Amino acid sequence: MRLLHGRPLAESINAATRERVATLERRNILPRLDVISVGIDPAASTYQERLVRSGKNLGIDVRAIALATGAVEAEVASRLQISSADRSVHGILMLTPLPASLDEARLVEAMAPAKDVEGVHPRNAGLLAAGRPHFVPSTAEGIIELLKFHQVPLRGAHAVVVGRSAVVGRPTASLLLREDATVAIAHSKSSDLPTLTRAASVVVVAVGRAGFLTGDMLSPGAIVIDAGINVTPSGITGDVNVESVTGVAGALSPVPGGLGAVTTSLLLRNVVTAAEEQNERRRAPRH
Ligand code: NAP
Repeated sequence: MRLLHGRPLAESINAATRERVATLERRNILPRLDVISVGIDPAASTYQERLVRSGKNLGIDVRAIALATGAVEAEVASRLQISSADRSVHGILMLTPLPASLDEARLVEAMAPAKDVEGVHPRNAGLLAAGRPHFVPSTAEGIIELLKFHQVPLRGAHAVVVGRSAVVGRPTASLLLREDATVAIAHSKSSDLPTLTRAASVVVVAVGRAGFLTGDMLSPGAIVIDAGINVTPSGITGDVNVESVTGVAGALSPVPGGLGAVTTSLLLRNVVTAAEEQNERRRAPRH
């Protein structure tokens, strides 16, 4: 079984991002991402730390803005609006999961779509669904980039995405469709999941349960992308039972070492894209 490592891809994305940051620097533009969190979620905090560290390496100002666990919806919305209106901020990321009292779907609308570098605003989600993606959720984009980087053919391939969340499953399915794959989306109410996954040459699993996908659910040689991030007593694991799929799958993206680094580099690349676009718009002559 081949391992689809993410590090080499992340490094090449970062190298290109660094060059674009240098070009912006020459115009006195410092790309900035505001990461807004409410309360403390261990997995989300780890992601935030990784973003700050990678941002520093790339010359992107990543600012952590932490609101208290008890923050009410109006406070969070108002914080998102402040970053949306601030011309020195180019990208906004609202860390999830949010406390249960907050309505995530409503809050994302408080963000300027042009700064929604994680592609969660309905405008960006709609563009993707219409087949005209602009900013798309970085995990979904990372899945496609990882498959392409490792030269997995997608045109005409039968792909199954297990999971239908707005941030991983759904956008991944839309992007696979754009690559001309034939796509099925499975979820907790799908009947006979193993029959579905065994019919696929590409299986993406984004369920959030350690060891969920086993070898008997795959056809021999299947390519498996593991988007799961599960904190277990033995460390971070994905949604795939690695031991069980090893003799069956043709390739697997490991956790850790697969998608994670790619996701971070894509999100930061989007911040640079947003900075370029916002400054282009400001420079464009008015008619
Ligand atoms: P989520 O919102 O909880 O969605 C999980 C999906 O899995 C749902 O669509 C659910 O179906 C489906 N599911 C649950 N049990 C199932 C079963 N027995 N059979 C088939 N489908 C089942 O989670 P998420 O945000 O997509 O994250 C999924 C995993 O990816 C997690 O490990 C997470 O840490 C990781 N991840 C998340 C992000 C992120 O930005 N959130 C980014 C990268 C990676 P229903 O819709 O029917 O409930």
